[in-house]
Amino acid sequence: MQLMRGVLHCHSRWSHDSPGRPERIVAAARRVGLDFVALTDHARHRPGLVLAAARGWRDGVLLLAGVELRAAGASALGIDVNLPLPPRGGRDRAEPFERLRATGALVLLGHAESFRAWKDWETIAPSVDGLEIANLHAMALAAPRWRVGLEALALPPRAFFRRLVARLPQRVLDRWDALGSRRPLPGWGGADPHENIRLLGARGGVVVPYEQAFRAVCNYVWVRERSAEALREGLAHGRGWVAFEFAASAADFRCAVLDETRGFCAGPGETIRWRAGLVLEARAPGADELRLLCDGTLRVRARTSVRLPLDRPGVWRVEAWREGVRWVIANPVYVRGSSGR
Ligand SMILES: [Zn+2]
Repeated sequence: MQLMRGVLHCHSRWSHDSPGRPERIVAAARRVGLDFVALTDHARHRPGLVLAAARGWRDGVLLLAGVELRAAGASALGIDVNLPLPPRGGRDRAEPFERLRATGALVLLGHAESFRAWKDWETIAPSVDGLEIANLHAMALAAPRWRVGLEALALPPRAFFRRLVARLPQRVLDRWDALGSRRPLPGWGGADPHENIRLLGARGGVVVPYEQAFRAVCNYVWVRERSAEALREGLAHGRGWVAFEFAASAADFRCAVLDETRGFCAGPGETIRWRAGLVLEARAPGADELRLLCDGTLRVRARTSVRLPLDRPGVWRVEAWREGVRWVIANPVYVRGSSGR
């Protein structure tokens, strides 16, 4: 297995609210060293144009063509969407997710922080492959606009993004932990850049250019080969972690469940049956703190590496913190009991 690193939520000029040209996105991705970018444009009028525009390898960056549809205060993110996009049908809460799913896309619930239809989750869930547990755009809107604008002007990028990531809503992670106890539910991060806010008019600088947004929220995915198909498989199974790399690369982060002979049993996103002797190991060189959680409850804090015997079934996951904010959020290992729960 190898790692691919990339961005899962990105807007280009095919969205009504972004002027970003795909060449500019690819160039930014190359500078950051990304392997993939999923374009998820608003496709209100011209989904065909959006989807035909960007797909496949460009200068070493794999582009996935996608669409973002509105869904109950949040969005349905279709990644690797194929035409035709079915016409809208009905006002059912599950409709945008089912519509994307019908094209064969990987479907995420985007902007989970503002989703208003959790009571209908059971009918929506079969059409959803995962949650966007962190969205940079939403973090920027979590404080008054004037304040975020001042911070963007006055602070160096590293300090600015540290403040944004500090605003990641805990309630989304709590929800994710609770849903994960029912079935595996991958969590991924969205950069969601539009490059549409300029200071000092059209000749001024862009606030949060693609390059900065890509460093601020990206994803590491274990894949069997470097292809769109293998990437989708890794994403659908939650095999990896979200990283906030505005200050440092999280490429050396690792976590896995091992057996008593230190043999590999399961990595992020995988499900195993509980038995005595299993150990969760994690390391994050450069972290200030590692946190191991079971079913959303903090079990252990450590510095840069940790081994914890698993004393019970549960949804076990790891976070690495740096400079007082989250640096890595890894997908859980689902350790099921004898009843399957
Ligand atoms: Zn978006």
